[in-house]
Amino acid sequence: MKFHFFHFCLIFPHFVLSEKRQYSDNKFTIASLFNKENSDAELAFKYAAHWHSLYSGEGTSYNSVVQKVPEGNTFASSKIVCNMTQNNNRLIAIFGPESHKTNAIVQSICKKLEIPHIQTSWQPSTNFPPIISLNFYPAANILAEGFATIVKHMNWKSYAIVYQRDEALIRLQAILKIPESSDNPVTVRQLEESGDYRTMLKLLKFSGITKIILDCDTDDVVDVLQQAQEVGLLNYPTSYLITSLDAHTLDYSSLNTNANITMVRLFNPNNEDLIRHIKSWEVGEMRHNQHVLATPQTVRTDAVLMIDAVNLLIEAVNHLNKTEMISPRSMSCHDSDTWEGGYRIAAYMKEHRLANPISGPIVFDQFGRRTNFNLQLIELNSNLVKATWCPENGTKLNITISAKQRQQMVLRSLQKQRIVVSSKLVDPYLMESNAPRTADSIASRYEGYAVDLIELIARELNFTYVFTITESNGNYDEASGLWNGVVGDVVNGVAQLGICDLTITHQRRQVVDFSNPFMTLGISILYKKPSAGEPNMFAFIDPLAEDVWMYTATAYLGVSIVLYLIARMAPGDWENPHPCDENPEQLENAWNLGNALWLTMGSIMTQGCDILPKGISTRMAVSMWWFFSLLMTSSYTANLAAYLAKERSGVSIKSVDDLIAQNKIKFGTLINGSTYEFFKESDYSKYQAVWNKMSGFKPTTFVGKNNEGVRKVLNKNQDYAFFMESASMEYEISKHCELAEIGDWLDSKGYGIAMPIDAPYRGEINSAILKYQESGTLQTLKKRWWKELIKKDPCELPDDENQTKEDGLKLANVGGVFLVLGIGVTVSFLIAVVEFLWNARNISVEEGVPYLHVLAAELKFAVNLWVTKKAVRGENKDDSPEASENRLDEEKPYQDESLFPLHIMNRLTENRSSSHHS
Ligand code: GLU
Repeated sequence: MKFHFFHFCLIFPHFVLSEKRQYSDNKFTIASLFNKENSDAELAFKYAAHWHSLYSGEGTSYNSVVQKVPEGNTFASSKIVCNMTQNNNRLIAIFGPESHKTNAIVQSICKKLEIPHIQTSWQPSTNFPPIISLNFYPAANILAEGFATIVKHMNWKSYAIVYQRDEALIRLQAILKIPESSDNPVTVRQLEESGDYRTMLKLLKFSGITKIILDCDTDDVVDVLQQAQEVGLLNYPTSYLITSLDAHTLDYSSLNTNANITMVRLFNPNNEDLIRHIKSWEVGEMRHNQHVLATPQTVRTDAVLMIDAVNLLIEAVNHLNKTEMISPRSMSCHDSDTWEGGYRIAAYMKEHRLANPISGPIVFDQFGRRTNFNLQLIELNSNLVKATWCPENGTKLNITISAKQRQQMVLRSLQKQRIVVSSKLVDPYLMESNAPRTADSIASRYEGYAVDLIELIARELNFTYVFTITESNGNYDEASGLWNGVVGDVVNGVAQLGICDLTITHQRRQVVDFSNPFMTLGISILYKKPSAGEPNMFAFIDPLAEDVWMYTATAYLGVSIVLYLIARMAPGDWENPHPCDENPEQLENAWNLGNALWLTMGSIMTQGCDILPKGISTRMAVSMWWFFSLLMTSSYTANLAAYLAKERSGVSIKSVDDLIAQNKIKFGTLINGSTYEFFKESDYSKYQAVWNKMSGFKPTTFVGKNNEGVRKVLNKNQDYAFFMESASMEYEISKHCELAEIGDWLDSKGYGIAMPIDAPYRGEINSAILKYQESGTLQTLKKRWWKELIKKDPCELPDDENQTKEDGLKLANVGGVFLVLGIGVTVSFLIAVVEFLWNARNISVEEGVPYLHVLAAELKFAVNLWVTKKAVRGENKDDSPEASENRLDEEKPYQDESLFPLHIMNRLTENRSSSHHS
């Protein structure tokens, strides 16, 4: 077409000149179609043209015609446009309308008549528009890239896209193309046509989504957010990115939200030209007694684009008019009429750069699509432009605020709200306080390490907070797919911070962010201290198990009886009782049961025996018994030292291996905590063995609370070891001197403060923690809660000297041995007494002397310690009269009272003389 027009100029220069002469100072008409009543864009259109007529000084004036067209009614729209072109012989361009349904028909009429068609609203860029068209609204595909860059830069791991109209999917196409990770899927939801979005928003909330990209009509934004607030999806730090370029013009004060709302705009409301234009609207409308509601802060993008569009059009017309090219005329839609100047104007507009456009740099491609613009990222309640993006930036966002400004922004938003801190009642991190509450002390209801730490951070960052208490640290329920406890509160947006003895774990890290660890620790075993308190005086029994003692005793009896029996059979053990008599009439066997028992006892006591067997079989049996005794006594002796030492130290387990190897001590962990998960998920065979044993105990050895586990360990009637985290263990050990940590840490990890993923204040919290770590404040805090505030006497730690003393066996450890000795000797004494009495009785019966006399004489003799010889009594002698005579002779030497009790002797003499007489 350019070609035709150019030819036309060359061939008919006179015609062109005469046209100029005729119309150069004429008025031009520009028309705009609007779907809505009284929009800012309408004012912008009217007054921009008017302003130029008054002030451009180019001798041209512009008449603006405004027409309302029903949205979606293409027939009515086409009729209006055709009337316009037919009745208006100075029409140079048609603007609008906004709706792209009616826009299409206007565009095609303009194309046919070759009248420039100018748009200021978003249009899908699926088809190439006719080159007579220009759209000042950013090209859909490039704008989509801009949004995608912003989303990528926000680094949101998991988010939802909530859109209203189907066309939004074109606007968001580049965002939808961002690859999503399998564990962080992107949710896409459409707003219900009914206008009630609560159910959908509630579902988003329950699925743990806290980042939302919202694409809806500007006028519906507040309504959607209002409903989000109703379902609890507008709390800090839920984040929204609103794609409407007019979101910044809305009034969010009714929401009173502390959510993080990011908006994108195309222009700076403080632009001086814009302010001047709005003033001109006010002045202009005042003449018609109308009041302008628009302010630079509320004016919409289409109005700003309208100003730029009219400005550029008028600059083009003014310029072209000088070269006599502008000659609009009335045209009918039904004729094959076209206007040559239209393309010229459109081409000029595409090439020409407007000086200081309000909506940023304006560049068009050959199809009239705007390819350059400047997106400004702002946040609700902040005038600072955080970042900008223009198509030249590609995938980079231009951060416009310094780190300090960013930090200040974060702090300001943190300070604006009362931060909810989720925690769990667990000593000494968070405990109910007994101290009287003061009105100005937020944390006065609770006390503990976590309270102090949060207070320190809050003071540093100058925010206020309130605690919310939950039951557990937080674990994932596979059945419901939900997190509970402190982690759950943070995931669900109930709390902005989570603090307790909360271990940083990989699984939790998937759903929340953690601060730097404020405490490092590892899993260890809590068990009773080596108890010097209860020594076992029968510890000498321990080296052999009960059943071994029983078997040994049975073997002793059995072997003694067998020895007795074989000795009776073994010819070698039948001996000549009088070795001088070479041909004895009788043989004697020394192996009665008593001797057999004596020999076996002597052997096992490693003492030997005064008589030994002579027969082959008996020797064989005895040597086997000796072999048995040798091994048993050596094993016993070897074990004895170790068992006595163990008895003294009281430690029966020293490591996890010891725990696995034994069956006496049960062990467990806090259920569903990180320690529980550590064993459950471990790939290491040793910890798998712990898990297998631990999970198999019936009744269960897992506990619901740490202090329940500690109670179980302390229980004297129970043998229980508790796998616990060293930091909490340290506290319990300071409280209970009878507890001790056994072995080394099984792992190494830390406690951190949980916060929502990508929480903007994470850096601030981290730097506060670092600061307190470096200054030693955290150490002081720990000392305070772990040692100083424990109201009890410090545990006595054995000093070196004590330890040396402890090396010796105490009476309590070997008391049993003394006891056995005492009992043995006592029993032998009692036997001696019984023997003594029995002997006296025998004498009394044999000799016919009263029992008490015999007893007294025997007793007197027994205590007469210097008498070492005793007369042989009659009972062992021959009873014949000769023998009796002999015996009397033999007894003579004992007639000495010192050798035999005198009265017994007298009595004996009496008896003898009476028997002689008789
Ligand atoms: N600190 C653990 C957690 O965060 C709780 C205690 C434990 O498991 O030993 O789950």
